[in-house]
Amino acid sequence: AKKLSSKRRVILKLSGEALREAGSKDNISPEIVDRMACEVKAAMDTGKVELGVVVGGGNFWRGASASARGMDRATADYVGMLATVMNALALQGALEEKGVPTIVQSAIEMKNVAETFIRRKASRQLANGHVVIFAAGTGSPFFSTDTTAALRASEMGADQVLKATMVDGVYDSDPKKNPDAKRYDRVSFQECISRQLQVMDSTAFSLCMDNKIPIIVFDLEKPGNVTAALLGEDIGTVVDS
Ligand code: UDP
Repeated sequence: AKKLSSKRRVILKLSGEALREAGSKDNISPEIVDRMACEVKAAMDTGKVELGVVVGGGNFWRGASASARGMDRATADYVGMLATVMNALALQGALEEKGVPTIVQSAIEMKNVAETFIRRKASRQLANGHVVIFAAGTGSPFFSTDTTAALRASEMGADQVLKATMVDGVYDSDPKKNPDAKRYDRVSFQECISRQLQVMDSTAFSLCMDNKIPIIVFDLEKPGNVTAALLGEDIGTVVDS
């Protein structure tokens, strides 16, 4: 299902944590969701972008953490996948309220609240100008939503994965620990591996590398950055071959 038009087709990876306001007990901040929706709308209104969004669930639950505390890993991961559906519905609601047609496709069938993921259908919906939110991760335990983003980008023939994070790009060491850390404008997949730079988890990273899909790592907290990233502006770090 390679894209048919000349529009930019991108997959935006939004972590669950991004939807929570720091320090708040609420898992989802309606204000943050609203801001994300506004930024997405601004980009969609240009008519130049086809957008798929992969949402995480870490604001509710992470399978690996629950498993480290004794829970069966697969069970904990299914709980995590269901958490992503809540975030997807919140985001869909905010987008539709602004008049942006949005479809949630879930990798786990949940037909009262979302369509079930069908690759060719999703690709058509993207081509028709719908924002498609991919919920429930890959539908399988032991994977992450970063990997989901890499997988959906590969399946949808996307031009880029846009990885929204809390830092403004990839650094040669942790900028929170090392004040002299150097930020890259561009870095190769190979260099990320040899320097052990954590861009995404290793499964997600190798999927992007193997399928030659560049990853753009950018700071989502700076207002306007999501729109800029969707429109292909030069923000953050480009990871490519
Ligand atoms: N998850 C899973 N399979 C997938 C995607 C996600 O089992 O394909 C589970 C996993 O437990 C994960 C949780 O869903 O911890 C939430 O996703 P993630 O941690 O990637 O969310 P984020 O960190 O982006 O908020």
